[in-house]
Amino acid sequence: MLIFGDVARTFQELESKSGRLEMTDILAELFKKTTAGEIDKLAYLIQGQLAPPYEGIDLGVGERFVVEAIAHSAGYSPEQVDRHYKKSGDLGATAEELLSKKKQQALSVREMDIAYVYNAFMKIARSGGPGSQELKIKLLTELLNNASALEARFIVRFALGRLRLGVGDPTILDALSVATVGDKSMREPLDRAYNVCSDIGYVAKTYLESPEKIKGFRVQPFKPLMPALAERLSTPKEIMGKLGKCGVEMKYDGFRLQCHKKANKVELYSRKLERMTLMLPEVVREVEGLKAKELIFEGEALAYDAKHKRYFSFQETMHRKRKHGIKEAQKELPLNVFCFDILYLDGRDMTNEPYAERRRALETLFPKGILRASECRLVENTAELEKLFQESITSGLEGIMAKDLNAPYTAGKRKFAWIKLKKSYGKAVDTVDGVIVGYYLGKGSRAEFEFGGLLIAVRNEDTGKLETVAKIGSGFSEDEMVSFEKMLDKIKAKEPPEDLVYLIEAPDFWVEPKYVVEVAFDEITKSPTHTCGLREGNGKGYALRFPRLVQVRKDKAVKDATTTSEVEEMFGLQHSRS
Ligand code: AMP
Repeated sequence: MLIFGDVARTFQELESKSGRLEMTDILAELFKKTTAGEIDKLAYLIQGQLAPPYEGIDLGVGERFVVEAIAHSAGYSPEQVDRHYKKSGDLGATAEELLSKKKQQALSVREMDIAYVYNAFMKIARSGGPGSQELKIKLLTELLNNASALEARFIVRFALGRLRLGVGDPTILDALSVATVGDKSMREPLDRAYNVCSDIGYVAKTYLESPEKIKGFRVQPFKPLMPALAERLSTPKEIMGKLGKCGVEMKYDGFRLQCHKKANKVELYSRKLERMTLMLPEVVREVEGLKAKELIFEGEALAYDAKHKRYFSFQETMHRKRKHGIKEAQKELPLNVFCFDILYLDGRDMTNEPYAERRRALETLFPKGILRASECRLVENTAELEKLFQESITSGLEGIMAKDLNAPYTAGKRKFAWIKLKKSYGKAVDTVDGVIVGYYLGKGSRAEFEFGGLLIAVRNEDTGKLETVAKIGSGFSEDEMVSFEKMLDKIKAKEPPEDLVYLIEAPDFWVEPKYVVEVAFDEITKSPTHTCGLREGNGKGYALRFPRLVQVRKDKAVKDATTTSEVEEMFGLQHSRS
C-alpha cells in the first residue's frame, strides 16, 4: 500500500531538482513501492489531473473554496488565511504553515494512502448540483484534517491545478521502465502505448499487470490517440527533396477532429483530446451511418456556407466549439469534415500500415457528403507540388500537407511523415504557435486599455521549460484588446510561470501559461533578451522579428505549442534559403 506521506515527500524532493535523470530515479523509487492497483491513480496525480482530459473530470474548486477549507481545518478565519496567502503567494505553502501549527497539538491523524486521497478528490469532482459547494468544501476540509502539513501543501496545490512538479510525461514513462527493469529499455513500447491511447494511468496499470501487453499494445476505440504532427519546410523543392514521390493533400483551416465509433456508440475528440460529441450532432449522425462497425478516423472540420459556396474562416468555424446554442450554431455554421487519416477499422489497428494503404481504406469509406476524404493527389515532381500549393491558396485554403507514402501514423510525434507548406501572411515568412506568458498595459493613445501587448514563449521539448521568443506590442484591433484584457485578467499571476526561463524585463502582468496564439513574423534573429534556444556558451537566443498576432488558437494546448527546436530549424532554413 502506498502511503500518501511517501508521495508528498517524493514531490518535495522533486521540487528541489531540475535534472531529468535525477527526477527519473526519484520517481522510480516511488513507483517501486506502488502496486498495479495504485499506479494509475499516482500517475494521474503526478500529471495534476484525475483522469485523461476526455473524461471531462474537473475538481471545480476555486481559490475561495480552498481558503475556506484551510480555515476550517487549521482553525483560522478565512480572512487570516487570505492575509497569509497575500504574503506567501502560494496557498499550498499557506496551508502547510497554518496546519503545521495546529498539527503540533493534534494527537493523531489517520495515515492516508494514495487511493484514499485520490478517491476523496474524485468525490469532490463528482459532487454537483445544489449544495455541492458546501459539500466540496467539507470534503476538502476532511482531507486536510487527515493530512500532515507537508501533505496539505500538495493537496492544496493539486486542488487548485497548480501542482507543477516539473515532471513531464516522458519522465513518468522513463521512471516506469527504470522501476521495473532497472533501465530505460521499456521506454519505447511504453511511449508508443501512451501515444496511441493518451491515458497515462491506463498505460501504467497495464504495464505493471503485464509488460507483454504493452509490447503488443493496440489502438482502441474511445481511447483517443495523440495526434500525429507535421514538420514544416519552406519550399516545394525542399519537400520533394525530402519525400520524393508523395501524397499531397489540401490543408484545411478548421479544427481537427478524431472520431471513434463502436457498435452504436460514437465519440468525437478535439485536437486537445477533449470530448466534443455533444457539440457536433450532425457529425455524430453521419459517423453513426457509416458502414464500418468499429472505426477511428481523423479529419478537419470546417463550416460551409452552401448559399455562397464558400468555407467560413477558422475564427467563424471555431464558434462551433460551444456548449450552448448548439442547434442555432448548427444551422448557421453547418460542418463538413475533410477526413485525412484512418487509424482503426473493424478490429484492424492501422497505425503501423503505410499511409498509402490507409489512404486507400479512407477513400473507400468516405464518398462525397458531409464526411468526405480530403482532396489528395500523387505528386512526382516540384512543379506539380507548386501547382497544387497555388491551387490551394487560390481557393482560400491554408496550403498543403505533403505525406510520405510509406510512413506509419506517427501518433504524438513530429516526424517527416507529414510536411506542411502554408501560405504566407503579407511579408511574413512563417508563423509559430506561441504561449502567452505575460502581457502589457496599453500606452499613449491606447492607455485606456488594460491591455497593450503580449509576451510570447515557445516550449523547449528537452527541458520542459518555456522560453521567450517575442514581444508583440502593436497591431491589435480595439476588439482584440478588449477580448485579451478579459481573457488574461482571469489568469493573472503574481509570479512568473514556474517553468519559464526569461531575461527580458518583467511585463506588467505575468499570466498562467494557458493560451496559445499564432504569431506571424518576417525573420528569426539572434537576440540578447530572449531565451529561446539559449544555451550556455551560445550567448544569444532566437527572437521573432516584427511579430504580429494572426489568431488565438483555442484548439491548441500549451503542450501543442511550437518547440524551441522547430524555431531553431526555421532559423536554419532561413539561412539555407538566403
Ligand atoms: P499546424 O496546426 O499548422 O501545425 O498544421 C497541422 C494541422 O493541420 C493538423 O493538426 C490538422 O488539424 C490540420 N490539417 C488540415 N488539413 C489537413 C490534412 N489534409 N492532413 C493533415 N492535417 C490537416
